Amino acid sequence: MTNTAPIDLRSDTVTRPDEHMLAAMAAAEVGDDVLDHDPTMRALEERVAHLLGTAAALWVPSGSMGNLISLMLHLQRGDRFLAPRGAHVLAYEFGSAAWLAGGMPQPLDWDAGPGRPKAATVRAQCDGSTGYDTLRTTLLCLENTHNGAGGAVTPPHEHAQLAAAARDSGLRIHLDGARIWNASVALGLPPAALTVGVDSVQTCLSKGLGAPVGSVIAGGADFIREARRVRRMIGGGVRQGGVLAAAGLVALDRIDALAEDHANARLLAAGLAEHGWEVTPPQTNIVLAAVPDVGVTLQRLAAVGVRAVAMSGQIRFVTHRDVSRADIEETLRRIGEARI
Ligand SMILES: *Cc1c(COP(=O)(O)O)cnc(C)c1O
Repeated sequence: MTNTAPIDLRSDTVTRPDEHMLAAMAAAEVGDDVLDHDPTMRALEERVAHLLGTAAALWVPSGSMGNLISLMLHLQRGDRFLAPRGAHVLAYEFGSAAWLAGGMPQPLDWDAGPGRPKAATVRAQCDGSTGYDTLRTTLLCLENTHNGAGGAVTPPHEHAQLAAAARDSGLRIHLDGARIWNASVALGLPPAALTVGVDSVQTCLSKGLGAPVGSVIAGGADFIREARRVRRMIGGGVRQGGVLAAAGLVALDRIDALAEDHANARLLAAGLAEHGWEVTPPQTNIVLAAVPDVGVTLQRLAAVGVRAVAMSGQIRFVTHRDVSRADIEETLRRIGEARI
């Protein structure tokens, strides 16, 4: 019998909570996190702060809200902020950085590599920005891994150079670390090695780590105190949040397992290349492939039960804990058989 079940490679967000995670959610000790505090939320926040090397952390419902709260606190209306071209805050958050945080976006070229601007580019953008009689540039927003660049990793020495350039130019630094766990596993370094010098970092529990919901903002104690106020203001406070935080705590036990997703991404990319596809070798769990007509290829893939999405003008496949090595082999078999 041939296997025809759909294989969903659209995103690592499609992962579903397994029995172990659901059991932890059901058993969670809870309080009222808006009124007072919720003990499981607190445990999660402390664990993430520790992992990311910050003084404090705050659970938020989504990565987009984590970025938004951070930008609202860092930016004054009309301030310009810098971010690598194609960054999530620029391209996928519906303009909230401008509409709600009042920031003016300035995309930076990837002149150091995929998804990565050079430190000199950051410095050049700030020349002449004195803050009184010119436009004010006040924030650098980094992204590691960079989603639009195919899960590209910024190594720690480059991160340090970018952070130094930002500091010297008087900028604050926010790191969109939605997939910082993937970067950490790919580099074989603790996540805290990738947050050095940042004022805030946002990370997702709901992607490769497999929680159904939840992200965390991490930063200094004062920053997180303010972030808690803004979270409530924009409707992100939750009451018995421990049910959700319990899923996050289980998710954090699964960081090392991301290595399997990375191996599966390499297997997929190698197999696609054998079938004649033009693929970018993946650094983490995202495979980008250039095809003549993205819409047509997506349809042909869907016809054989392989789901992917369009991103950066290419096809994006994302490996995750709900697809196995056998699923990747099956994906390649279907693509080969249908001569896609
Ligand atoms: C997914 C993602 C986000 C947003 O997370 P949501 O929970 O979907 O709002 C932010 N930044 C990057 C780089 C992402 O990949």
